[in-house]
Amino acid sequence: MRRKMIAGNWKMNNNQAEASNFISSLETWLSSDQTGKKAVSAVSSGEIEIVLAPSFTSIGSAVAAKSTNLIQISAQNVHHKQSGAYTGEVSLPMLEDAGCKYVIIGHSERRHVFGEDFDLLEKKLIATLESRVLPIFCVGELLEERTSGNMKKVLSSQLDSAWNSLTSDVIGEMVVIAYEPVWAIGTGQTASDSDAEYACDFIRTLAYDKFGIAASDSLRILYGGSVKPENSASLLSQSNIDGLLIGGASLEVEQFERIITSAL
Ligand code: PEP
Repeated sequence: MRRKMIAGNWKMNNNQAEASNFISSLETWLSSDQTGKKAVSAVSSGEIEIVLAPSFTSIGSAVAAKSTNLIQISAQNVHHKQSGAYTGEVSLPMLEDAGCKYVIIGHSERRHVFGEDFDLLEKKLIATLESRVLPIFCVGELLEERTSGNMKKVLSSQLDSAWNSLTSDVIGEMVVIAYEPVWAIGTGQTASDSDAEYACDFIRTLAYDKFGIAASDSLRILYGGSVKPENSASLLSQSNIDGLLIGGASLEVEQFERIITSAL
């Protein structure tokens, strides 16, 4: 059984105090609410994983605010070099040192706003897999790519370029893929359950073709794009969707708790 992941991407929101208040409120809910306690047993038994991705400057406060190991911390980006003259960048050893378990790589905003290309994203993915931080690697098509019938082609090329040199055991055990159609991110226009499932099933088939049954069976594939408490349960009920990457709705603790609840 694949462990479900409920991951919040805070983007450029939540300063240190806000990050630490959020973590404290979520932990209070986990320890005192009936449903929160159900979430604790699901986390403890390995059925679900709760992840939050603060901005770089709030990672330390988020980690410090945790009084349990129920919530994992992710970064939103990383540089592939270990150290050196890369002004403004943050390395994998720094993320490890700060307490990150995951890092998001290839988010559509990194690809389309900051121009990160296939070559750079492959370097980031490979460097991450050589570290103790695990990648949440994002793929997804633009609206015009979907309407012109190129969704599969786009997903194949994004994945092929990134996982070309990886091996089956790495894909199955260490990589999380997030399918985030760009037209659904921050737009309120969620992919339908069947469209999201279709794309995630296609990604699993690509993994099967390249890495075989064991890797494709254990690969976790998330959906992201305007997820809300109102649509999370039906997305999570799709057989190839193993979790959710949530932007806007992860900024409100109550909404994030309701999304966790929908995964139980
Ligand atoms: C995201 O930032 O990855 C995301 C999916 O955002 P939203 O949930 O706001 O669409």
